[in-house]
Amino acid sequence: MRRSSKWMGIVLLIALCIACLIWYAAIREDRHGLLTVTFLNIGQGDSIFIDAPSGRQVLIDGGPDSSVLRQLSAVMPWYDRSIDVMIPTHPDADHISGLIDVLAHYQIGLILQSSVLGSTATWHTLEKDISQEGAQIVTGQRGEIIDLGKGAYLEVLSPDRPLPNAETNTACVVTRLVYGNTSFMLSCDAPKEIENYLVRLDGKALRSDVLKAGHHGSKNSSSPLFVGYVDPTYAVYSRGCDNKYGHPNQETIDTLAKFNIPTLDTCKDGAITFVSDGETVKRR
Ligand SMILES: [Zn+2]
Repeated sequence: MRRSSKWMGIVLLIALCIACLIWYAAIREDRHGLLTVTFLNIGQGDSIFIDAPSGRQVLIDGGPDSSVLRQLSAVMPWYDRSIDVMIPTHPDADHISGLIDVLAHYQIGLILQSSVLGSTATWHTLEKDISQEGAQIVTGQRGEIIDLGKGAYLEVLSPDRPLPNAETNTACVVTRLVYGNTSFMLSCDAPKEIENYLVRLDGKALRSDVLKAGHHGSKNSSSPLFVGYVDPTYAVYSRGCDNKYGHPNQETIDTLAKFNIPTLDTCKDGAITFVSDGETVKRR
């Protein structure tokens, strides 16, 4: 009799623990109508994590190494081992190396691929891993829209055609994240020529609350024309502190200063998070 009541106690304790875990997960999963965008602190490179109001998650690029895993563990719950959408914007190592580690640790639902072909061993490894992931694969091309649910979506602005043999930065996948009246311009390493081409195509529709300064603040991106049309409230440099390229370039710093745009910098600020309620974007 005494033994059965002891077992009953253990079963009740286990049931209570499971109920607590489900309760914790349910609270954690409710986004309360908020979109969260984090520019991860992965050193010299890009990696952007999006947590949509629906709970759908997107990872744009994975930085230069496995440091992306530690960064993801800070923005995702420990029990979450899947990411809905992955976007390798182009084959350069500072954008895709970390994605090899991400594919090894997370289940990916959809991969929006750049059409440009790489030539490095890293790119070939990523291609092999992507082909074995079992994810839906879509080529990132202008007009493609990824619905993130509850009014949030990602639209591909560039390239406007498949560019398998183009220079990698020129062909990188430029996206604009939209939620209600707020938006984020995520312009990978696109050079000024592409930025100015987008101004001709989209004009005032480029306006966004946050601009990821193209190509880590290189002088080859952030043309005054493009920055003027995007007209962001904040600009972000995604870069490593001791990068050998001198990013951000003084020319880019001067352009953003001329437009009175406050800048944030993953080197100085670490991971940078913005939260949108669909009306305003605030830094967290
Ligand atoms: Zn880059």
